[in-house]
Amino acid sequence: MSDAREDEALGDALSDSDILKALTLHSARGGGPAIGGARLRHVRRQQLLRCRVVRFTERRHETPRTAFGKEDLSALPLYEGAITDHPLPEPEGPGKITLVRAGSYRPVPCPCDNGSQQCAGCSGSGGHPCTCRNEPPPCDVCLDVAPCAACEKAGGARVRTTKARPAASGPGVTAPGAGRVSCAVCRTPEAACPRCSGRGRVRCPHCDGRGRETCARCSGRGVGTHDVCGGKGSLTHWVEGTVEYAHETASLSLPKPDWPDKVRQRLTTAARWQRRTVPPGGGVPAGVDDEHRAAVAAHLTRGRVELSRRVTLETCPLARVELMDDPHRVFHVFPGARSLEVVSTLSDRLKRRLIAAGAVIIIVVVLVLRLLT
Ligand SMILES: [Zn+2]
Ligand SMILES: [Zn+2]
Ligand SMILES: [Zn+2]
Ligand SMILES: [Zn+2]
Ligand SMILES: [Zn+2]
Repeated sequence: MSDAREDEALGDALSDSDILKALTLHSARGGGPAIGGARLRHVRRQQLLRCRVVRFTERRHETPRTAFGKEDLSALPLYEGAITDHPLPEPEGPGKITLVRAGSYRPVPCPCDNGSQQCAGCSGSGGHPCTCRNEPPPCDVCLDVAPCAACEKAGGARVRTTKARPAASGPGVTAPGAGRVSCAVCRTPEAACPRCSGRGRVRCPHCDGRGRETCARCSGRGVGTHDVCGGKGSLTHWVEGTVEYAHETASLSLPKPDWPDKVRQRLTTAARWQRRTVPPGGGVPAGVDDEHRAAVAAHLTRGRVELSRRVTLETCPLARVELMDDPHRVFHVFPGARSLEVVSTLSDRLKRRLIAAGAVIIIVVVLVLRLLT
């Protein structure tokens, strides 16, 4: 009744009679109700395959390089022509080699002034006109409104000079109720604003009354570092060749698992995988199932940058078994260290029924699980 295949490897390892023998042994060891005299209802045989290719690769690149100033490349080996054609000794392992193309080394002076250039922030002048336009700004304490009680009484024309004095500072000046001071204009004692002494205006804090601010970018020097040469005054151009050796690992696992985690775990820990020898030419080894051959061939394709490789390819047969008289269980059978391993799980049909049965049945599920495990 099983859909036995013509694959020798599978048939050899998992014949119907071997499976039945293994199931009987499994139930005898306490793997569930007795299976004696059981008949197979359905057997699906699959070949599991895992393949790991570690390629030792070589990649070569050529890059135009530029450095600030004079670059000392005398320690690097030279190559002629294209880096791809340059002969190199057999590599010992992963690593990177950096080379310089012969004749490509070119130190050039920068057209700037020895690494400096006119400051772009101030066009070389070292400063900017201040935003105050050389007008002293109003005092920040009296806001130029009645800076002196006596001057106000004198009325008429504002006699205040625009020549502001340095603003008085300190907490006492701006404290609430700070005392009035002698007016610098009309000389009346205790009449004027403590910050501006009655002038109504203070010296501009940005330019200190000079009308010009120092350029922040060049600190007033008018020259700055030339970005193109990094301030070095010269540049070095050359062509760099690199050769990189690396181990690159690619893994393949077939088929996509459709079995429960319980089975997956047993397969990783207890299955006896059979090593298959890949022919030196890199073809798909004998014993690999037909349905895997195309994927394995693609996985083994030789890469353009591949120098050598190490391949491990292993297979393991797996049978999914249903019995005539035991519709609620599915058995997964595969070769173990000494004999066939059996992992039993609930059948999908039973799982569906249990889920559909609802809350009351949950108690039954627990009981069934207890019985089965
Ligand atoms: Zn500047
Ligand atoms: Zn006054
Ligand atoms: Zn004031
Ligand atoms: Zn100013
Ligand atoms: Zn420069």
